[in-house]
Amino acid sequence: MNAAPSPWAAGLQLRCPQCGKGAVFQGYLKFRDACRVCGADFKAADAGDGPAVFVILVVGAIIAPLLIILQFGLDLPGWLALTITMIAAVALCLAFLPPFKALLFAFQWKHKAREATLDDIE
Ligand SMILES: [Zn+2]
Repeated sequence: MNAAPSPWAAGLQLRCPQCGKGAVFQGYLKFRDACRVCGADFKAADAGDGPAVFVILVVGAIIAPLLIILQFGLDLPGWLALTITMIAAVALCLAFLPPFKALLFAFQWKHKAREATLDDIE
């Protein structure tokens, strides 16, 4: 059996965190029930709001300087600079969400993170 892939490699390639080969999503952001290659069970996969938070931080760090450059550096009209940055913001959010969600899931998988239950209390 092969060693588990790095969570970075598996997550950013949208691959199974156990084998690194099977696709982790069916569709845009919906996790598969299980890996088609190794059979790893993804039913408990839940990255929660984490991916959206990281995407907001990263996209905001890109979009804010872009807006400043377009409006004040290139002296574009405000409406045009705002339109360009809003389109870029939506496109970047849509592009970054799947890899961030798969990345957080891969780290959850590696560290066996899960919701706490009463059984965890000793
Ligand atoms: Zn797998």
